[in-house]
Amino acid sequence: MSAPEELAGTPETEAELSGVDTRRRPKQQMLEVGGRRLSPATLMMGHGFDPALSEGALKPPIFLTSTFVFESAAAGKRHFEGVTGQRPGGAEGLVYSRFNGPNQEILEDRLGIWEGAEEALAFSSGMAAIATVLLALVRPGDTIVHSAPLYAATETLIGKILGRFGVQWLDFPAGATRSEIEAVLDKASATGRVPLIYLESPANPTNALVDVEAVAAARDARFADEKPLIVIDNTFLGPLWQQPLTHGADIVLYSLTKYAGGHSDLVAGGAVGSKAAIDPIRAMRNTIGTILDPHSAWMLLRSLETLELRMSRAGENAAKVCAFLRDHPKVERVGYLGFLEDGSRQADIYRRHCSGAGSTFSLYLKGGEPEAFRFLDALKIAKLAVSLGGTETLASHPAGMTHLSVAPARKAALDIGDNLVRISIGVENADDLIADFEQALAAV
Ligand code: PLP
Repeated sequence: MSAPEELAGTPETEAELSGVDTRRRPKQQMLEVGGRRLSPATLMMGHGFDPALSEGALKPPIFLTSTFVFESAAAGKRHFEGVTGQRPGGAEGLVYSRFNGPNQEILEDRLGIWEGAEEALAFSSGMAAIATVLLALVRPGDTIVHSAPLYAATETLIGKILGRFGVQWLDFPAGATRSEIEAVLDKASATGRVPLIYLESPANPTNALVDVEAVAAARDARFADEKPLIVIDNTFLGPLWQQPLTHGADIVLYSLTKYAGGHSDLVAGGAVGSKAAIDPIRAMRNTIGTILDPHSAWMLLRSLETLELRMSRAGENAAKVCAFLRDHPKVERVGYLGFLEDGSRQADIYRRHCSGAGSTFSLYLKGGEPEAFRFLDALKIAKLAVSLGGTETLASHPAGMTHLSVAPARKAALDIGDNLVRISIGVENADDLIADFEQALAAV
């Protein structure tokens, strides 16, 4: 008996099932030892997995199954009675892999740990996470308020795709102050319901930071009830260097493809937040099937064991590489969060929100496209590819690659010149990387 066939033609039951958190086992609660609260790095090795449930295996097996067997017909009925609310206590386990599976559940338990979140969800990509959240929260006639710029596909989704369904948007620049944000919220509420305030910080591609605390204060000042949820894409700094739930965000989103996956070998997304904020997102994910597959979930479990090691090393490497690049005569400037001007608004947001500068930055060379291309073509260790947050250093040319089709005025506003090279530093030896950049600059 599989849930979807069983439920065909009973939309109310399907809707109810969609909202349910079907769990294979209670969450393991070993979060402290001898009164000491364990750190995320320690919990990544075993939290959420009981070897006794898998033949004593130290590591979770990959559960490649589309459905789960009930012990008896009565157990199946009891399960659905829990799902539909006819029996208190909720569902009694896993039922169908579009809703959840053991690998995804363990991953979700561990993802939530990094930000002290009550709940977490895994998705088949960062965009699947973003799309599922937006679909769960918006209705025709709503106005989404968002920071700008956003990752290009998110901008397309909000502006073009949701626009086809009567959803409007208004934006404010990433560094906006509380009063500037309040003004945009006022304008938005005059045009329709504001279901969410969507943020990306640091923003792709400018690295501009959003003042999440100011956004929360503006939201709380302007809305007494039916407060818009604050949703933030924390892909560039999270979860190690920025934890927006502690600054007033309700849902934090990730492209787990980047630092969390960290080896440039998978595509995945995540969302973390309170149970109340995450429940409707789970219901939408269950309905449309944007969950991550078990194999990628297993790979992410492995990645999370080294997340702190990798991100720390990449961050240290980036600081050394940027210090070298900043003083080089062929370099115009380096757009790196570690170099924000003291006393500036961006530096103030950084001081209040971030504990590290990350490892993704902008390198502006003296010259234009020919100089940038000569530099990129001469690199020997760094690979020429888009994306970021992997163990290996990557470099790309936004004006000629990811942002080729962007109008010149918009490119200028985003500071995407022909002399810009985007770099994501990996975990190689920092001196080797500096040697590579030095010889590539010599070839410019
Ligand atoms: N958010 C940001 C900030 C990104 O940079 C990306 C991808 O580059 C995404 C979301 C989308 O993630 P994915 O490619 O995993 O769908």
